[in-house]
Amino acid sequence: PRLANQIAAGEVVERPASVIKEVLENSLDAGATQLDVEIEAGGVKLMRVRDNGLGIAQDDLAMALARHATSKIQDLDDLEAVATLGFRGEALASISSVSRLELTSRHHRAEHAWTVKAEGRDMQTQVVPAAHPVGTTVEVRDLFFNTPARRKFLRKDNTEYGRVEDVLKRLALSRFGVGFSLKNNGRVVHSWRPADSQIEQERRVAQICGPAFMSSTVHVDIERAGLRLWGWVALPTFSRSQADLQHFFVNGRAIKDKLVTHAVRQAYQDVLYHGRHPAYALYLEVDPATVDVNVHPTKHEVRFRDGRLVHDFIFRSLHKALADVRP
Ligand code: ADP
Ligand code: MG
Repeated sequence: PRLANQIAAGEVVERPASVIKEVLENSLDAGATQLDVEIEAGGVKLMRVRDNGLGIAQDDLAMALARHATSKIQDLDDLEAVATLGFRGEALASISSVSRLELTSRHHRAEHAWTVKAEGRDMQTQVVPAAHPVGTTVEVRDLFFNTPARRKFLRKDNTEYGRVEDVLKRLALSRFGVGFSLKNNGRVVHSWRPADSQIEQERRVAQICGPAFMSSTVHVDIERAGLRLWGWVALPTFSRSQADLQHFFVNGRAIKDKLVTHAVRQAYQDVLYHGRHPAYALYLEVDPATVDVNVHPTKHEVRFRDGRLVHDFIFRSLHKALADVRP
């Protein structure tokens, strides 16, 4: 049962996009303000993420990869299970168990950088000096090289690339203050500068969601009783009805939640047309103590302490914003 619990605890290494997500979240946790991502062959051949965060101290470098070796992975003979499910909270160890991983980092107080490598279950224990500015680079090669069954579940390179791109777009929408770049097979595909003013933010939204979306939106920013809802909702002049243009963030985390979707949809349909899918990039800010964002391992669902209040606030705010601009 212990092992089963550990496995049920999370989902990490499913495909290149899930690797990228974990690695980028680590970078953001480390306070990075610039994230540069490079991928080859849909991420299967190479994923490299470089950040300018606080870095990892020499003594902690091996530890960041070694946890499976010391605790969980030795209990698990079936690497496929790790590849499929991973372990929540041990992303790097999980990833390194199914790839060739190189971790290079310079701690903000260190003289220079250090690097450590792992290949499948074998970890090179010595940490060797390296050249790297303050921050961290995680390089993942040959994902699933030792788990062929898992590898078979991957789609075409382009499809896997698309999922990586989606992860990056969602993060870029949630962190306007952070710069992002994405290189695919040697070509720079995206480069988003930090966006602090509303104009810069709108430029980024246009780059990510398309200029047609941006130019048909109404800007929302409403605050009441400790709740704030801001962002952009498209008017019916934007005719694409697509599920992937429904971006909702709660305290900076992308979520997909029934209560939220319902509130937005209801406001939209009340004021505008029936049967049309709303398109939006919306940000809800609430007291962190009143929301649980870890209901589900993939962290897309939330549980609000007072769901009714939140639903009501979203509905009313959008209703007002949309009604104000109705022709
Ligand atoms: P978790 O994030 O749940 O602690 P991970 O396996 O994702 O587990 O990361 C292990 C540890 O390695 C982190 O706790 C952090 O201390 C360190 N780490 C990983 N990536 C970075 C990074 N980009 N910058 C600084 N530290 C990092
Ligand atoms: Mg992590």
